[in-house]
Amino acid sequence: MSEAGKKIILSGIRPTGRLHYGNYFGAVREFLRLQEQDARCYYFVADYHALTTITERREIYADTLHMLRTYVACGLDPVRSIIYRQSDLPCTAELALLLGMITNIGHLERGTTYKDKMAKIEADPRTEGNPLSYGLLGYPVLMAADILIVQADIVPVGDDQRQHVEMACDIAGKFNARFGETLKIPAAVDRNALRLPGLDGSMKMGKSDNNTLDLLDDEATVLKKVKSVPTTTDPEPLGTDSNDPDVVIPKMPAGVGVLYRLLSLLAPEAVYLEYLEAYRSGGKFYGNLKKTVAEHVSQFNAPIIERFNDPAHGDAFIEDFLRSNAQKVTPVALDTVESCREAIGIGRSLYRA
Ligand code: ATP
Ligand code: MG
Repeated sequence: MSEAGKKIILSGIRPTGRLHYGNYFGAVREFLRLQEQDARCYYFVADYHALTTITERREIYADTLHMLRTYVACGLDPVRSIIYRQSDLPCTAELALLLGMITNIGHLERGTTYKDKMAKIEADPRTEGNPLSYGLLGYPVLMAADILIVQADIVPVGDDQRQHVEMACDIAGKFNARFGETLKIPAAVDRNALRLPGLDGSMKMGKSDNNTLDLLDDEATVLKKVKSVPTTTDPEPLGTDSNDPDVVIPKMPAGVGVLYRLLSLLAPEAVYLEYLEAYRSGGKFYGNLKKTVAEHVSQFNAPIIERFNDPAHGDAFIEDFLRSNAQKVTPVALDTVESCREAIGIGRSLYRA
């Protein structure tokens, strides 16, 4: 297929901590699959988005490099995929400003991520982030700009981000209805996207929630973390049946659910089915289950850790491709912003050549 006819894929990850199993199986695994297809893949580290939870200076640039080294260690190839930093495409902020003009505040306030974040901060004022910040409320507008600026066809994200992608489609639809067909509306997101529960038994593993199993965790850390997963039977189990119809997981307390989910993702099917049978027939087997899960996680992590430490893929290598990829993505992005300026009526910029 010619470069022009290729499907455009776009997705991002915030550099707010280490890459975890939720990120990998909710997003990165799909990035790797799509990289093998004849598509144009854009993957970015969302450093502007990281600022929505910041309350003091943090080494976001260092975190960005770290995150990208992990991307590469997982198999993302900066030659086949265009991997860049969100802040190296500052015209995204210009597009977000334009889109913000047609986005209703009520729409943003109904966002589940925003509501969850508000609830968390209200319950514990020490939670990172400022619920009243314009940036946090406007997160979906900036995300819409990220997606629309490269004219993405497909946006592979985990289940927790699905609503944000739907908002981006709504915003683009509204823009086009008001100003004429300008923005490409991405295809609907996959309804079967996965959401991995947290190791603390909460519904989502998340970098900001300190409940993650990370791709760079060594054997001892993995064992310690897996052992700490709560497996007490809840009288009203939180359903962790995934939306994935191929994997049968009965309703379980979330801690147990995450162990089974990890087993289904990492272990041979026979091992998974054996433990599923043990769950159905009751009995005491959680000690063994945790040991088995920890072994499979460590096996999975070992080659990633090795590649992460490969000096050939250090910070200098990352900075090199960031620089050249910023050049590759900029023309596409400017083209979109200029078309939007023209559609709205303020006209093309005069300061850009
Ligand atoms: P933060 O807490 O800072 O928001 P996060 O852990 O939610 O971090 P993000 O960088 O926001 O990670 O998300 C990156 C990608 O990983 C997104 O596509 C998101 O949908 C996916 N993702 C994050 N957590 C999970 C999870 N628990 N299960 C499945 N996918 C997830
Ligand atoms: Mg998140």
